[in-house]
Order: sequence, then C-alpha cells, then structure tokens
Amino acid sequence: MKRRDFIINSALAVGGAALLAGCGKKEVKKSVNQVVRRKFDNLEMPLIALGCMRLPMRDGKIDMAELDKMVAYAMEHGANYFDTAYMYVEGKSENAIGEILKQYKRDSFFLTDKNPSYLVNSPSDVHRIFKEQLKKCQVEYFDNYMVHNINKGTISNYRDNDMYGELLKLKNDGLIKHLGFSFHGDPKMLKEVINEHKWDFCQLQLNYLDWEVINGDQLYEIAEEANVPVIVMEPLRGGALCNIPAKAAEKLKAECPDDTQASFGLRWVANKPLVFTILSGMSNLQQVKENIDTFVNYRPFTEKEEKVAHEIAQIIQSQGAINCTACKYCMEVCPRGINIPAIFGLYNLYKASAQPNAEFMFVTNYNALKEEERADKCIKCGLCNKNCPQGLNIPDLLADVLKKVEEVEKSMS
Ligand code: SF4
Ligand code: SF4
Repeated sequence: MKRRDFIINSALAVGGAALLAGCGKKEVKKSVNQVVRRKFDNLEMPLIALGCMRLPMRDGKIDMAELDKMVAYAMEHGANYFDTAYMYVEGKSENAIGEILKQYKRDSFFLTDKNPSYLVNSPSDVHRIFKEQLKKCQVEYFDNYMVHNINKGTISNYRDNDMYGELLKLKNDGLIKHLGFSFHGDPKMLKEVINEHKWDFCQLQLNYLDWEVINGDQLYEIAEEANVPVIVMEPLRGGALCNIPAKAAEKLKAECPDDTQASFGLRWVANKPLVFTILSGMSNLQQVKENIDTFVNYRPFTEKEEKVAHEIAQIIQSQGAINCTACKYCMEVCPRGINIPAIFGLYNLYKASAQPNAEFMFVTNYNALKEEERADKCIKCGLCNKNCPQGLNIPDLLADVLKKVEEVEKSMS
C-alpha cells in the first residue's frame, strides 16, 4: 500500500506568508506558540481548523464580536484555516466569516467552501452558487473547495450534473486551489467516488466512536488505498464526545488525567497519518483556546490511549444513544419545523446521564421546546431522511423518543 510522506513541523511559517501591516490590513502578532502543521504534497495546513457550522450566537444572531476574537486568536497561533458552507448557520456563515477575514491579507489564511450537491439541479447551478459564495465571502478564490455532502440521496445530483467537471473548470481558471469532496455515504460508494476523478483531498467524518460504531475505519482505509489525504469533520461527533456518559468520563479521568474529553478526541483523530486538517466547530473563544492548546502542545496518541478510546466507545454504544451530530440538515427540509437535533440531543443527554433525576430533567426539557417543534407534530413524510448524513430514520426515532416521553410522564402522574 503506497502512502505519501507527511512532514509535521510546528515551526513552519503561518500559511507561508508574512503577516505584515499594510494595504489597510490587520497585522497579526504571531505567538511563539504555533499549532502543529502537516504537509501533503503541495498542501500544507494547520492540523486544527475552525469549522464555521456552529458559530457563536447572541440574541438569535451570529455574535460577530466573539467571532472576531476567535479568528484573531486562531490567526495568532497559526490555526489559519477556516471552513464554511452554503447552508451553515442558515446561510449566514459565509457572510460572517468573510466579513471577519477581509481584515487580513488574503494569503495569510486558508478559506474553504462547498458546493451543495443537494441543491444542484443543473451544471449552471454549480457556477451560480460558486459566484454567490465568492461574493458572500468577499474573496476572489477559495483555497480548498468541495462537492458538499455526497451521500445516497445526492450522488445522482453530483454525477448527473458533472459537478466534478464543472468545478475543474473553475480550478483551471485559478478560482479554486484544491478540489475535493465531503462524504456521508457507505464504503462501497466512497470507493467509487474517490477513484472516478483525480481529487486533491476528501473530507470524511472520523472520530473514535464512528471508527467502531459505523464504518470510519473502512472509509479511512479506502482513502489510504487511493492515496487521497483526509480532512476530518465531526472529530467530536457534534459535541457528543465532549459530553460522554459518566462511567466513560470517570475512565478517561483516571487513565488520561492530562486530557479533557475534547483533547482526547482530537488527539485520537490526529494520530491517523493521512489526516492533514481537523475541523472543529468552535462556538466561543474558550473552545478555540482549548483546541489550539491541544495542537500547540501536541502529544501523539499512545497504545494505552487507543485501548481507552476503544473502551469508551463501547460504553457510549451500550447507552443506546442516537447518532445525531446536530448538523441541522434535516431541518432545512422539514415542512413542520420539528426541532429534530434538539429532541435527539435531549434524549442523548438523558441516556448519558447517571443522575437520579435524569428522566425528570429529560421530560422537563423536552416540554420546554416550543409545542410546534416537538416530535408529536411529525407527519412522517420522510423528507428529512434524504438530508441526514448519518443515515438515520428520523421519523421512527422521533416516535421512539416520543414514546419514552409519554412513558416517563405516565410514571410521574
Ligand atoms: S418525517 Fe417528520 S421530521 Fe421528517 S421532515 Fe417529515 S415532518 Fe419533518
Ligand atoms: S438527524 Fe441527521 S440531519 Fe438531522 S441534525 Fe441529526 S445528524 Fe443532522
């Protein structure tokens, strides 16, 4: 099996560019504490990157002041890679990160965006959306660009509209530096997609839970065989690996006292040699600081830690949690506005909790949701299933959660 060599070097210059004042752009004061970087052929990126799917919010709007601080801190520490997408934060993520990044010299940061396969119905859609994205982000090119979310529901859009061919034209025009795809299908589909074109990279969902529970190990092996480097999304499974069941948390504390739940999960992903950037959806400055600290003081995973990760995955699996990452793609199509990720999130919190009042809290919090957003309003149309990258049967799971709510309510009456 062939594999290209990686170079890991925390002392490399930020983005290969000097960050100087001038041209009205903000000067970045580079900290001596720079995050580890990885190199793959002509791609060289910080190992940790700021995912812009879960941006800080205040009063229902993106908190631009907090985002400004988060970006400044990341830039100072060499974490100068930012990942957005057309639909993130209800379509507002691109504008927000573009507004902040315009303060910096263009060659001092990497900006990634994605063409939403689920909205592309003709080749011209690819170009229309791309142009709109350049404008929203206030840039003239994207460093990395992807066909977004190839899965069983969207693969026909991607193929029938030759999204690769259309994006290659934009790459040849210098508007895209590196072309890849993000993927949420099964191993058989990945094998087909990865080998049908010459991709610069792929973006996969990898974390120590999916490695065991779904098919993360198989997806990684396919990328390895195709010699295509990997950007990782959902390294902490939408935050679930920062909120692991009490029994698992105790184990982690006892066996890996120097780690937080987040640093443990991120270090696990970083240990895979084909991974050159890890996207973490950070929502406040504190999270940015913690994640950057993990990659400034980077320690490779040990064999003992691998064993702990395996045991924790088994504990989580035994709790019967729902594999929802809170991406909210389902909500974009739900005609009833059911708050699916919130409902699944509350259920998972309840399953992970060791507190004696967990059932009571679960039902109390469920009933705090707006009436129109609750599970009983689902009409079982199934539209949400097509958009779920985790392949969940959402209406059935909503029915299960509702049954549990009703059972608890009955036992309390
Ligand atoms: S099945 Fe239920 S949750 Fe899914 S889109 Fe239809 S109404 Fe919404
Ligand atoms: S149910 Fe699926 S689509 Fe909806 S938020 Fe969860 S993972 Fe995303």
